Amino acid sequence: MAEAVKDAVKEVTDNVKNLAVSGEAKPKKEKKAKKGAETGDGRPLELSPPAAFIDHRVKIFEQLKAKYDEEIAQKPREKIEITLGDGKVHVGESWVTSPADIARGISKSLFERTVIARLDHGTPDETLWDLERPLEKSCKLELLDFDHEEGKRVFWHSSAHILGEASERRFGCDLCIGPPIEDGFYYEMALPEKAAVESSDYKPLETIVSSIVKEKQVFQRLSLSKEDLLEMFKSNPYKQHIIKDKIPDGTFTTVYRNGPLIDLCRGPHVPHTGRIKQFKIMKNSASYFLGDANNDSLQRIYGVSFPDKDRMQEHLKYLEEAAKRDHRKIGKEQELFFFHEYSPGSCFFLPHGMIIYNTLNAYLREQYWKRGYQEVGSPNMYNSALWKTSGHWQHYSEDMFTFEVEKEKWALKPMNCPGHCLIFGHRERSYRELPIRMADFGILHRNEASGALSGLTRVRRFQQDDTHIFCTEDQITEEITQLFDFLREVYGKFGFTFKLKLSTRPEGFLGEISTWDKAEAKLTEALNQFTAEGGGAWELNPGDGAFYGPKIDITIQDALRRDFQCATIQLDFQLPQRFELEYMTSEARPKTDKEAAEKPKEEKEKHDRPKELAEAENEVIKKTPAPPPGYARPVMIHRAIYGSFERFIGILTEHFAGRWPFWISPRQVMIIPVMPAVNPYVQEVQALLRAQGLHADIDISGNTMQKKIRTAQLALYNFIIVVGAEERENKAANVRNRDDQESQKRGEVIPLDEVVKKLVKLRDERRLENKI
Ligand SMILES: [Zn+2]
Ligand SMILES: [Zn+2]
Repeated sequence: MAEAVKDAVKEVTDNVKNLAVSGEAKPKKEKKAKKGAETGDGRPLELSPPAAFIDHRVKIFEQLKAKYDEEIAQKPREKIEITLGDGKVHVGESWVTSPADIARGISKSLFERTVIARLDHGTPDETLWDLERPLEKSCKLELLDFDHEEGKRVFWHSSAHILGEASERRFGCDLCIGPPIEDGFYYEMALPEKAAVESSDYKPLETIVSSIVKEKQVFQRLSLSKEDLLEMFKSNPYKQHIIKDKIPDGTFTTVYRNGPLIDLCRGPHVPHTGRIKQFKIMKNSASYFLGDANNDSLQRIYGVSFPDKDRMQEHLKYLEEAAKRDHRKIGKEQELFFFHEYSPGSCFFLPHGMIIYNTLNAYLREQYWKRGYQEVGSPNMYNSALWKTSGHWQHYSEDMFTFEVEKEKWALKPMNCPGHCLIFGHRERSYRELPIRMADFGILHRNEASGALSGLTRVRRFQQDDTHIFCTEDQITEEITQLFDFLREVYGKFGFTFKLKLSTRPEGFLGEISTWDKAEAKLTEALNQFTAEGGGAWELNPGDGAFYGPKIDITIQDALRRDFQCATIQLDFQLPQRFELEYMTSEARPKTDKEAAEKPKEEKEKHDRPKELAEAENEVIKKTPAPPPGYARPVMIHRAIYGSFERFIGILTEHFAGRWPFWISPRQVMIIPVMPAVNPYVQEVQALLRAQGLHADIDISGNTMQKKIRTAQLALYNFIIVVGAEERENKAANVRNRDDQESQKRGEVIPLDEVVKKLVKLRDERRLENKI
């Protein structure tokens, strides 16, 4: 494989070199631009003449398109029935009637609004279909607009083609890929002479895009043989690679043309470029072809587009708000945490960040106590034998930090589960002990590429609020129901709403169908119960479970209505089997000393097994001997609610925009004197609050009182207490509330005893609202 990759890369690089040479050879004087089309740096808006490959592609396209159109004209016309969502049936003609005809027949505005057609949704024939492409047979038809997830993807994907066309026209570049992404799209390309895209290119590219949009270039679809594709894209090494790699010999695939751009693409697209009314380039970055650092370095241009101005403005406003809330920015301003190049992806929590961290942790420990969880501590590094038994060595080793200890391979743990299996299995277990809810705040490491690291969102070192529940099959429903209650308790504290999704048995699953069916039925039961109790609807995600068990994904929504997946509830039939975990059922007799003594031998054999595991793993696991009579295998439930503390703190920082609820806040109270004479009283108040475990700071610097108040306001202290002679005489405090504008000008004077009591109550009740 390595050789093949090297060859491909070499081919790619050689071609790029040739291309660069031919680019250079072009006489610069020939590059003429239209009047007024020069850009700021004096370079023309577009290459003139255009890159030679453009004409080459168009010639092949036109020739084959004419042939194709002739073939289509020969197709027999038949009556077809097109059924709409409301049940209405339209009669049309095969190879003639298009979804666009149906839409226009209903109303012009419906047609204008529709981005893409979806045929036969929910059947094996389900497919997205270009609006103007004639239907070939009877079908169910849906017309999707931009607000539909699929419609948005098609809209943004089509926008990427426009960006590709503009880039070719400006740079004469080799395009690579142009997919839609979560918040827009990008196009990846190689510029001649390995040049980089500059931010000064944005405006000119947007100018070219405007003209493309004005032209309303139609997206034309055409199916081509692999040979024709290789000829059409012969000057583009990346497309060559993709064609050779992805398209089987003797098969056809499609290209789409809009204006001078012809791109290898499965489609579908909007009908014409005029649909992309609002377009903006957001940023650019460098990347590697196929994401491999050994390949060519490429340039990515990111953009976003919308069908109208309002949506664009709303999006830009949202981005502005998100930037203000960026946890990396607030983390610096509030001195919560930082990162250092000597240990990328491993966070340094500063004292204030650590207060948040510990408060979140203490809250969970309190909940664990109430909910019958038991906390354990387990090692950070293990011999690879453990990871071979768990299967991580075979499936996950690239994501682990591995090293040698006394000539044997070891790894830092990326998760706690295998260690917890050792804890469960280290002595005989009885059904009376179940369920065991084993909690661990252990430190985990995952080997993320340094380029993928991002603030607290993507780290190498983290701690989870990890728990593994070992229970009997009969206990699953009850455990899941309790977990939903736990989720509601925790997320409610932060004002998050959440959604649930059940992923069921995939192909290539492990274990017996009957076990899966039972488990899925139990999860469904728990989910329905949750919904019936007003917990909100849940969604089914068929076939998307892990191969070792069904799972429930939980998504929370933050103040900017962004979705995050933090929690998961994952049933696991596999690990208990791999570790041969068992418990005594009510019919069991304890093992004799002799039987128990045989155990170490079994364990040794187990460690010899991984070689087979790698080959026919599933088979081997299935062959794991069943527990002896009177014993049964526990089910394992992996579950986390915060997910990782690091990521959760990042999410909370942005959700609250740094305005922490009192109970988590590292800056709860600032005490400020009216004049230096009351400084001792300021210190007295601080001591009183600190004695209650409240985070109270004082400012007895030489600044003016107004300046001190202003500074404390900017630092987002929940409360500012200002004291003067009067407050000192009456043992009182003047309190300003961060979230109450009225109290900012002149706070409320409250007896000190009462202030302390109220603050303690606010903290202990963990209320979201900042009010005493
Ligand atoms: Zn496309
Ligand atoms: Zn786990």
